[in-house]
Amino acid sequence: MQDILTILDRLCAFDTTSHKSNLECVDYCRHLLVSAGFDVTILPNADGTKANLHAVAGPRDGPALVFAGHTDVVPVDGQNWSTDPFKLTQRDGNLFARGTTDMKGFVAVALSTVTNLDLHALGLSLHHVLTYDEETGCFGARDISDYLRSAVPAGSFCMVGEPTDLRPIVAHKGIIGLRATVTGSEGHAATIATKTNAIHFASDLVQYLLQQAQVYAAKPNKNDYVTPFSTIQIGLMNGGQARNMIAKQCDLEFEFRHLPDDLSVEFLEDLEAFLSSDLRPRLIRNDELSSVHIKTMSHVPAFRASKNSPFLSALKANLGSVDIGFWDGVTEAGYYLDAGLDTIVCGPGTISQAHQPNECVSVSALNECKDLLRRLTSQLAAAS
Ligand SMILES: [Zn+2]
Repeated sequence: MQDILTILDRLCAFDTTSHKSNLECVDYCRHLLVSAGFDVTILPNADGTKANLHAVAGPRDGPALVFAGHTDVVPVDGQNWSTDPFKLTQRDGNLFARGTTDMKGFVAVALSTVTNLDLHALGLSLHHVLTYDEETGCFGARDISDYLRSAVPAGSFCMVGEPTDLRPIVAHKGIIGLRATVTGSEGHAATIATKTNAIHFASDLVQYLLQQAQVYAAKPNKNDYVTPFSTIQIGLMNGGQARNMIAKQCDLEFEFRHLPDDLSVEFLEDLEAFLSSDLRPRLIRNDELSSVHIKTMSHVPAFRASKNSPFLSALKANLGSVDIGFWDGVTEAGYYLDAGLDTIVCGPGTISQAHQPNECVSVSALNECKDLLRRLTSQLAAAS
């Protein structure tokens, strides 16, 4: 029997910043779940430095409820914290530490709830999923998605406990992050008329992307996103060596944050059409060895809950008159949806606290979530 604060205190003490290992944190959760009667599977990443966790208890055939969270947190480097970010500190009803809101608070509530239930009496299948590398591109959820398709019955309810103030989020944008490498010629600036400057051609690509951004912004969209259209953002441009040298290489990193209706595959097809019909022919005119290559750096699918989601109805019935929401940010929910689960994003805490110095969640928000999980489990068990 473990309470939320004891678990959260332990979770926050593990420095699971995304570039570090989460193995100790996952092992602690595994111990908790095994002692509570769960069957636990640890799924390591390719180099064994991190792991996803899947735990299941209860009857394997009937309906199932999945609590999904990520173990990693964003860095604290350069942030001005007034407490130790890896030591849970309680003050005026708030709990301060990195990850309290995003999203170890939810993980602690879910672990406390499932480890305090009489699983034999419940008659409901409960699953717990913990992932790595959510903050750097949802790679853990991507890696566990196929496994979940066979490990969890299709149509099971899946609660992704990101900090939504317990408001059910039914859709969010997707992201595809890309790097373009333009390679041109070397040479003295005086010979530019017969050479290929990589910066000049990378700038043409920038112009194309900005034009596409305007096309997406002008599309008629009727939704409740803060930014109600898909956006393109160029976050890095790096090329050249000196004013009087022709730039041989220029790298661009950019991302397409898209509504569920604006498919990333169409964005990529349009980009490829521009490159092959316009940029590449001009690029090789002076230097046939010149090139432009596009590499996908990250891809997080957009999310839109199933139509008439039974899980959304169950959540609404337990939450009273709460509005459903749309998020401009991304979560792992698209991967759970791909795995066949009836997925909704809903968890304690406020997104504006996430990634901030002095990140905190209120004790009352965690208790409210605990009450919700208890009501949900008993309602679903009664219906099964
Ligand atoms: Zn998160």
